[in-house]
Amino acid sequence: MTDLYARHKSVLPDWLALYYEDPLEITHGEGRHVWDAEGNKYLDFFGGILTTMTAHALPEVTKAVSEQAGRILHSSTLYLNRPMVELAERIAQLSGIPGARVFFTTSGTEANDTALLLATTYRQSNTVLAMRNSYHGRSFSAVGITGNRGWSPTSLSPLQTLYVHGGVRTRGPYASLSDDDFIAACVDDLRDLLGHTRPPAALIAEPIQGVGGFTSGPDGLYAAFRDVLAEHGILWIADEVQTGWGRTGDNFWGWQAHGQSGPPDMLTFAKGIGNGSSIGGVVARAEIMNCLDSNSISTFGGTQITMAAGLANLSYLLEHDLQGNARRVGGLLIERLRAVAAQVPHVREVRGRGLMLGIELVKPGTDEADPDAASAVLEATRADGLLIGKGGGHSTSALRIAPPLSLTVAEAEEGATILERALRSLTQ
Ligand code: PMP
Repeated sequence: MTDLYARHKSVLPDWLALYYEDPLEITHGEGRHVWDAEGNKYLDFFGGILTTMTAHALPEVTKAVSEQAGRILHSSTLYLNRPMVELAERIAQLSGIPGARVFFTTSGTEANDTALLLATTYRQSNTVLAMRNSYHGRSFSAVGITGNRGWSPTSLSPLQTLYVHGGVRTRGPYASLSDDDFIAACVDDLRDLLGHTRPPAALIAEPIQGVGGFTSGPDGLYAAFRDVLAEHGILWIADEVQTGWGRTGDNFWGWQAHGQSGPPDMLTFAKGIGNGSSIGGVVARAEIMNCLDSNSISTFGGTQITMAAGLANLSYLLEHDLQGNARRVGGLLIERLRAVAAQVPHVREVRGRGLMLGIELVKPGTDEADPDAASAVLEATRADGLLIGKGGGHSTSALRIAPPLSLTVAEAEEGATILERALRSLTQ
């Protein structure tokens, strides 16, 4: 055990999750690579849990942040803040929500907390619909609605939450249905839930479940839900903390795969936009955002230093069409991984889109999740110079691949080769 790890264990909470038997200390990064304290270099296929949206140490972001740091880090949200207004304008326009208002926070958790505050106030109901296997953050209310039990340390909650089927197709009662039948079954389930409760304020859902293992229902699922929700005046909140900013390749936001009945009433964002600096936020239709009847600010939400990072990062993303890159390189990567998967009996499914790909591992010849295999692949890839993530529902048996969106074809090939070696070693 390194000295730093020993000190970490003696002063930080036991429940603070760390990857790897011998945890990593990352000291610096460049492009799609990071280095640890011993000087080992890694190809980064997890981007700090999808926080590194464009690239590590992107010169454009570094320059914007250092110039801003030389002027002022933060002046208070009680004063006008030019970079905050500029970033809000750009996000409002990109959101697809008509007449959108934007409120900045410092994390995805706080963004979802704010969305729940808005929805429950707007609708005067503290009942919320969330998806089974979902993850929405770690505050009291976000934990309270999170469907993934592995990440819900308390059963107490300020909100009454009802859980909806549809975010996972790998297993469960509807797993073998066609897309249309799956959607119809989930809609029936939703209607059934609504028949037994006071009208909920909102449905909050990740278009692709992140912590849950990069799983999703078929495209169009949330559009079908939306039609039912609209009959009851229930709001739809898309949690875009992992799926936003073009990561899924085909779309800028995850909700767009379900956009037949228009944009969501609210979307929440975080992670990638700051390229590692702490930006979260909510975008909502004006009448929802403005339903609070007392003042509110977030001391650090929208602070100049993070807004400078966000603006430079977003400009780079758009100017270099990294969404298109995610589609192209992600398309090659998934093909390559599917070819490997066909030969490795532990792999049940390779799924996802763009640069958000999941590999579901099972005990060969069964449908049983294999968390030990996922841990073994995580360790083996690390030893071979590749960082990936893991996730999943009742057990952590999916590998998560989400590199910075500037990933090159050569890097995708290199990472796939390392993954292939690790996956094949499961059967040796
Ligand atoms: N929503 C989703 C979909 C997430 O994946 C996460 C973080 N993993 C959060 C919310 C919470 O974000 P944060 O960790 O920034 O509070």
